[in-house]
Amino acid sequence: MKGAVAWRRRLLDWFDRHRRHLPWRATTDPYRLWVAETLAQQTQAARAAAYYERFVERFPTVEALAAADLAEVLKQWEGLGYYQRARRLHEAARQACAERGGALPRAAAEWRRLPGVGDYTAAAVASMAFGEPVAAIDGNVRRVLSRVAATEIGDSLARQLAVTRALAQALVAGARPGDVNQALMELGATVCRPRRPRCDACPLAAACAARRAALTTIYPLRPPRKARPARPFACLLIQCDDRRLVVRRMATKLLGGLWEFPTIACREGEDCRAAAERGLRDLGLPCRRIQPGTALTHDFTHFRQTLQTFLVEVEAAGDPAGVEAQWATEARLAELPLTQVARRLVSRAGLGAGRGLTGR
Ligand code: SF4
Repeated sequence: MKGAVAWRRRLLDWFDRHRRHLPWRATTDPYRLWVAETLAQQTQAARAAAYYERFVERFPTVEALAAADLAEVLKQWEGLGYYQRARRLHEAARQACAERGGALPRAAAEWRRLPGVGDYTAAAVASMAFGEPVAAIDGNVRRVLSRVAATEIGDSLARQLAVTRALAQALVAGARPGDVNQALMELGATVCRPRRPRCDACPLAAACAARRAALTTIYPLRPPRKARPARPFACLLIQCDDRRLVVRRMATKLLGGLWEFPTIACREGEDCRAAAERGLRDLGLPCRRIQPGTALTHDFTHFRQTLQTFLVEVEAAGDPAGVEAQWATEARLAELPLTQVARRLVSRAGLGAGRGLTGR
């Protein structure tokens, strides 16, 4: 592609001078890069760095990760959301150890065969650890290159993606492909930001079609956003002395393996109070008192959960029916891998050990 050699050189010069010091930048260990890239898809680099340090200290090798209990892995992941990614990472580590004796793949195409490893992660690790000239296109890279290439406004999203991919591939097809990928990601994260890009500081400014046309912020083109449906739930904060009942989500469900306060989806036409009482009956726990608590919302990819909590006192800490459960003190709650909603509820005033239904 015309101009690719000069653009690559400018990009790498810029990266050598301006790259942030992130803990995985000093390694070519494919396991560590794989962990880093998986974490970096969940959150911003600075936050991912803190998780990365803890994660590789606790699981320094793929063998250590494979040997760990899933609960430990989920605990390290807690707060990042999208726990399916952590489960797949653990599953892939086990698969690599069982089938390859812990040897990780070299080529991106081989990485893709591991559970949970998509095009982006496969390309990122193969290029950074082994120098394979394959483009890793995340949201940051897509934004940068869609602006540089700035296809016509009326062009389809598919055409824009194809142009962006071709440009990315041309840029990595030369010296230091791993650094080119990282430079593009870094540029998107720090200079070519979604709003108010810092074009004056950009090494690709001279080549950027969107900048020339003063149309930077309309790129990348996006499909129309669908409204996220709201779904109501009742959440039972069941207390007996200084303990709260938590239940484990089934492994096959969204957020499987994590612990939460019993949460009941309202049926069509059912209000939250009725759903809460139905949930209590299903658990088979004799209730002494129930009263509504706070309400909160939590966004998942495909829906918005609207949650009404109910503070419940029971006669005795019996075994609830049909669920894997435990009565947890505040200290125990701190140790368990909880869903994000449960962690939010724990950190709210009134849910600590020894507090009554009113939180006083
Ligand atoms: S010139 Fe501006 S819009 Fe174009 S790539 Fe650089 S920062 Fe982004």
